[in-house]
Amino acid sequence: MKAICWYGKRDVRVEDVPEPKLLTKRDAILKTTLTAICGSDLHLYRGEIPSMKEGDILGHEFMGEIVEVGTEVPNLKKGDRVVVPCCISCGNCFFCQNGMTALCDNSNPNPQIAHGSVPAGMFGYSHLFGGYAGGQAQYVRVPFADFGPMKIPDSVSDEQALFLTDIFPTGYMAAENCNIRPGDVIAVWGCGPVGQFAIRSAFLLGAERVIAIDNVPSRLELATAAGAEPLDFSRTDVAEQLMQLTGGRGPDACIDAAGITAPDVLRQAIRTCRKGGIIAIPGAYAGPVDKFPLGTAFTKGLTLKTGPTNVHTWMKPLLERIEKGEIDPSFVISHRLPLGDGPKGYDLFDGRDGCTKVVLRP
Ligand SMILES: [Zn+2]
Ligand SMILES: [Zn+2]
Repeated sequence: MKAICWYGKRDVRVEDVPEPKLLTKRDAILKTTLTAICGSDLHLYRGEIPSMKEGDILGHEFMGEIVEVGTEVPNLKKGDRVVVPCCISCGNCFFCQNGMTALCDNSNPNPQIAHGSVPAGMFGYSHLFGGYAGGQAQYVRVPFADFGPMKIPDSVSDEQALFLTDIFPTGYMAAENCNIRPGDVIAVWGCGPVGQFAIRSAFLLGAERVIAIDNVPSRLELATAAGAEPLDFSRTDVAEQLMQLTGGRGPDACIDAAGITAPDVLRQAIRTCRKGGIIAIPGAYAGPVDKFPLGTAFTKGLTLKTGPTNVHTWMKPLLERIEKGEIDPSFVISHRLPLGDGPKGYDLFDGRDGCTKVVLRP
């Protein structure tokens, strides 16, 4: 089968690789119908994540059709059309049982690689995250298939369903973490795909105004189309503008959808958030963050909410919102390519402007 494989910094290739097989009774094999390149895949592409090996199959955002199931997957049968959560979760441990599926204790077979805390397994995202083959391929093995995949009704298209794997729940969980009340002003740093979903989710959850901060024109345009007020950080003093736009008080909640590539965002969010406000951090961080202003956060009585997305928990309620027509997640797609053009897709997405999301069809 064809798959997109990692070979090093800015070196991904379309390769012929063996098809996956069932390895446990709880596995299923999925024939991929649509997959996407995630902003976090760019960290792999840029060689920023350790523990990758040459030939690793990439991709954690995918959906498709079930072609084979193990003997302990009673919920699925051949032919079912499903979307698969990007994080791999057992469904049985304390964390899975309490909705914190991204913190699963049992899905990472490589705990020795992680220092300190062990992340849950994730498709196509290095050996630190379990070394699972990813979904930018014609077929994928799905572990814990009795717990993860969700069936999609015919009324919802592949392009509408795909982002339930990761970026829609991730943006939504960030907005949900803001405890939005009527009249609230939410500031979102980083208008990549997750930021775009955070903006739309904030409005869905009742925000009165959303301020979108980025410097990429196409991203700010997409945010503006959703009803947000754009701030280009390369042209204006963001802190000053935020104060002006909120009567000198600061936003009620701030979402850092930029992550570790821009830790100054976190400092700025803490500095500008109103007293008693909330900082939600869907952007991924690893290791210590320099000059983290904990004193300011304390004095202002801020609440910080962070962590990987419990995708399983949000898939169903968000599918319902899609079915009701409250949101059509395909708005974020800028490029549709065949799987064989995957390397070109990575290059386009890496260049940012004009490219918000690449989907690949095997
Ligand atoms: Zn992703
Ligand atoms: Zn678990």
